[in-house]
Amino acid sequence: MENIELALYPFVSEASRYVDSLNFSPDRLITSRALESARIRGTDRVIQSLAGNIEKPSFVASDEGKVLTELLSYPFARILVSCIDDQYLTRRYALAEAKASYELLKKESLDLLRYLGEDFSISATTDDTHLNLHFTDYLKLASPLKELEWKLVNRRMDHGHVRIAKENYARLLQEAIRKRILNGLPINVPPHMCGQCEDNLTVIRDILQKQKDDFDIGGFREVDNELFPPCIVHAIGNVRNGINLAHSMRFAKTSFLVAVGMSVNEVVDLFNVSPDFDEEKTRYQIEHIAGSSGTQYTPPSCSTMKTYGNCQGADELCKRIQHPLTYYRRKVWFKKRDGSRNTIKKDA
Ligand code: SF4
Repeated sequence: MENIELALYPFVSEASRYVDSLNFSPDRLITSRALESARIRGTDRVIQSLAGNIEKPSFVASDEGKVLTELLSYPFARILVSCIDDQYLTRRYALAEAKASYELLKKESLDLLRYLGEDFSISATTDDTHLNLHFTDYLKLASPLKELEWKLVNRRMDHGHVRIAKENYARLLQEAIRKRILNGLPINVPPHMCGQCEDNLTVIRDILQKQKDDFDIGGFREVDNELFPPCIVHAIGNVRNGINLAHSMRFAKTSFLVAVGMSVNEVVDLFNVSPDFDEEKTRYQIEHIAGSSGTQYTPPSCSTMKTYGNCQGADELCKRIQHPLTYYRRKVWFKKRDGSRNTIKKDA
């Protein structure tokens, strides 16, 4: 690969071999004044990942310095993420790096895609417009993606090989990249080195904390997430931990959140850490469920949730209700009742 490509896809083995060959030790990367721009860009990578979108630069052949900065910013970003060692940040970072790569990969040549696939032990062949990969490789890459289009039965097969368009192959690589980055974090950074990065870390920690605060409190505003039924809490937890939800649970969660008063933007934000997050598609689906086509969908009842295996963590109150919305309404009512009792006690 050319150096420009290594800088754009710094997680491939060839890029890390190239960085090793340059003899930039982590110590030097953290302290050298000459590498300040790589540290700034590395910090930016992490900050941008919290916003969900890492911007990739464009280069011309003479941009050697910029290319090196971009290349070295990646190990520095990994150092920062490792020093903070927060599961939410790490997942968010891995996903944003992978998504940024996907945007580029869609426009790359079939040959480059095939080459990158080999770095993930996927051997594919190409014809004029498509890539062909063995169905076992396909399953390995596509299994985390829950949309129906990724099911093997919905793919064209020929002698055990799946024929796949470039954009779809790029999407599969996105998932492989996300997993590689995620599994490679945190790296072991000695505390004194984290200490040397304190200024960069403080900026990231502040943004991370603000995002968590907004999500936990302001994000729901008048909607009281503490009162959600266990199935919805479980689904939100899975999304936050980067676990893809089954289609039926996505629908249940979205329709529930819309029904209790969350805006489309707030629900979109909730999904913005899941591995197969596609903002445009997610927004379209949420708007559809919220009633853009004239019908607002009702969340499924408890018995439907049980049929699909989506009833998780049922508690005592669950035994007395038949619908997740009833659970929420009762909890809201209990909370109001207890609140007014406390007020009466105080007045007395
Ligand atoms: S019983 Fe109903 S509300 Fe309770 S966890 Fe199951 S599906 Fe959710």
